[in-house]
Order: sequence, then C-alpha cells, then structure tokens
Amino acid sequence: MLPTQQGSIRLFRLLGIQVYLHWSWFFVAFYTVSTRGDQYSSPVWNIAEYLSLFLLVLMHEYGHSLACRSTGGQADQIVLWPLGGVAYVAPPQRPGAQLWSIAAGPMVNALLVPVFYLAVRIAAGRGLDDTNPDLFECLLTIQLINLALLIFNLLPIYPLDGGQILRSVLWYFVGPANSLIVATVIGFLGGAAFFAYGAYQGSTWNMVLAGFLLFNCWKSFQFARQLRGHLRNLPPPVPPAAFGS
Ligand SMILES: [Zn+2]
Repeated sequence: MLPTQQGSIRLFRLLGIQVYLHWSWFFVAFYTVSTRGDQYSSPVWNIAEYLSLFLLVLMHEYGHSLACRSTGGQADQIVLWPLGGVAYVAPPQRPGAQLWSIAAGPMVNALLVPVFYLAVRIAAGRGLDDTNPDLFECLLTIQLINLALLIFNLLPIYPLDGGQILRSVLWYFVGPANSLIVATVIGFLGGAAFFAYGAYQGSTWNMVLAGFLLFNCWKSFQFARQLRGHLRNLPPPVPPAAFGS
C-alpha cells in the first residue's frame, strides 16, 4: 500500500533522483486548501503554505535518498502523495547503512529548525509583521510545519522514521529479524494509540494515516517472522518495498 510511479506525474529529475507526484495529491490539496481557515487576506497564501509543506517533505525525502546513496545503496525515486512523500531506498543490509539512510530524513528538518528561527527573528526585527502580515504569518506557519514534521516522523511507530531508527539501533544487539519484530510490535501499539487518538479527535485524516501505518507495520512484522525463519535456514523471504517516509 505505497504510491508508485503508476498514476503519477513525472515532475523533474534532480541529482539522479526522479520525483513523481501522485494524482490523488491534487484532490486532497484542493480539499485542504479550500477548507483552510481564513487567517490570510488572500487564499493564494493557503496555496503557498500547502506547497511549502510539500517542499519540506521533498527535502526530507532527498535527505533519505542521498544518505542511502552515500552508503552504496540504491535510491532513484521519490513519490509525493497526500500522506507526504515516499523515498524508495534500498540501503545495504547492515544496521549502520540503514540507520544513516533513515536518520538523514529527520536530520534535514532538524537542521532547518535554527534556519527558520533566525528567519522569523530577522523578519520580526524588520517589522515584516506590519509591512506584510500575510508573508509573516506564512513564515510562522511553515516554521511550525517543519517542527511538526520533525516530531511526527520521530515517533517510534514503525514504519515512521522513529520506528525505523529504533529497529536499526536494536539490530546491533539482537540482529535483523528480532529487531524488526520488536520495532513492529511497538509500532502496532503506537499505531493503535494514534488511531484511537484520531477517533477521539474525530479526525478522519489521522485515522487514515494510522491505518496506513498499521497496515505497513503488519506487513513488516510478517517479513520479520519470515526473516527469522530464513536465519534458521529456511528459504529467503522477499522483503516488502523499503522506504523512508
Ligand atoms: Zn522520513
């Protein structure tokens, strides 16, 4: 249940990575932008804000892809879709390579935290909130979006980055199969809690997102069990598509 290049628009190719945009993005983008509150004087700013979110997501995915390449792995495709972005990465099967490929995504957002902080400080110092309140409001929101992306991705809910980082660290101690089993079990608990939170909030969006996480967590749990069998000399399993979201 991952978006693929089928049904996607080929946007551009940069640094040897082809970037696609899934068709469903337009529907959700239209819905989100048109139902957004009116904190700006013109709806154009809502569009700017939504596009900025995906620019941040794209930079995050490039972090995964370029880090994966630096370990000798394969990464040549990023697909943007309503739930964010998917970088198709296949780092070498060793914990250090996996850890770096996954950690580099949130690291991009972490590096942007002081950049946005400074930008807001400078903008406020120059009175941008008076001269161009829309631009200032947009800048403040993008700063918050970046922080939210960083925190959300670091939640230990496999296959979110936090869950994958946990798995890579555990790999050093308990091996590839058991580390994935532990990370996916924790991911299930976290995903279920996130689903319950979404239901409590009445947020269909968060429930869909939790469902997506739980489904992929389940597939990875099954893979982990097969991998454990393989390590006991059974036939090798086929891994699910590796990705960093
Ligand atoms: Zn990520």
